[in-house]
Amino acid sequence: MVNFKSLDIKALGDLMASIGETRFRASQIYRWMWKRGVTSIDEMSDISKKAREKLKELGYVGELKLKAYFPSKDGSVKFLFELEDGKEIESVFIPDRDRKTVCVSVQVGCPMGCKFCATGSLGFTRNLKSWEIADQVLQVQKFMRSFLNQPDLRITNVVYMGMGEPLVNLDEVKKSIYTLNSHIGLNIGSRKITVSTVGIIPGIYELARFDRQVKLAVSLHSAIQSKRAQIVPVAKAYPLDKLRKAIIQYYEQKKRWITFEYLLLPGFNNSEEDIEALEDFVSGIPSKINVIPFNPYPGALFRAPTDREIEKFIKRLQKLPHTVTLRASKGRDVGGACGQLAKFRPTELILNTEN
Ligand code: SF4
Repeated sequence: MVNFKSLDIKALGDLMASIGETRFRASQIYRWMWKRGVTSIDEMSDISKKAREKLKELGYVGELKLKAYFPSKDGSVKFLFELEDGKEIESVFIPDRDRKTVCVSVQVGCPMGCKFCATGSLGFTRNLKSWEIADQVLQVQKFMRSFLNQPDLRITNVVYMGMGEPLVNLDEVKKSIYTLNSHIGLNIGSRKITVSTVGIIPGIYELARFDRQVKLAVSLHSAIQSKRAQIVPVAKAYPLDKLRKAIIQYYEQKKRWITFEYLLLPGFNNSEEDIEALEDFVSGIPSKINVIPFNPYPGALFRAPTDREIEKFIKRLQKLPHTVTLRASKGRDVGGACGQLAKFRPTELILNTEN
């Protein structure tokens, strides 16, 4: 039995042709699944009864199972989803005025082992399939519509910043972007989609050639090679000088500003020397620097910066000719903030009883 959500339009067209239907029917099914969120083949009312019966013999419309959700005081909601093989992943809904963002996971665990990251400390289990990535957005949208009693609520932005490294699962990530971007899918503009990487150089070049104008965010955290390699193990294979070239190429190709994520780890990467190295690294790259105060989790190697440390760091960075933003990490109280996914569980969780 095939999960029809795992098929793209072409494969769905082949399937329809194999049961004697026109390929055109594929877009109708796609729309039912990805735009309207329907899982029952019987509800696909513009497909003939005969074709629906045949479809039911061949497969089904799968969906992620919502196991629990954790609403934060700041309006964000963390979700725990179960996959068909029983593995679990997390996603986060982040509202900000008209912008409704979903942060998606791309892997179960993560093989990168970054030293400041709760997900990285869990190890790696498997890559997600494209439908499992896109379905996080669909399920969050469906849930939030009823949770907030806003039937017209639409997810406007997607960030690939949850569990896992997107550029080591790039084929599936690209396919999921097609689904999110499709006008018969979730219809989210490619410019509203951000792919974040810890610095996988071949992946950056490949994403530069990808035919969707997605934004690139690079988790930099230190512009000093020896320091960066201490906290981001993959930096040994992909050093800063080569990473910089790949980022410039991405900008040249896409003409889209790059976002540099800089996790503020007090006592590690906030000295004058660190700032000067950062200044050199970003110089000449149209970009913004997003400073994220570290969110400790149980067993973390770093502590949170104090307000004074944050303020001092930001003030110094503001002397650079770059836009500097301070990301107020949302979902901190429910373990949904950056680098917290997968390890910390709040004590008050709300189990989903609808499934
Ligand atoms: S920061 Fe990203 S790439 Fe690094 S271990 Fe965590 S999830 Fe993986």
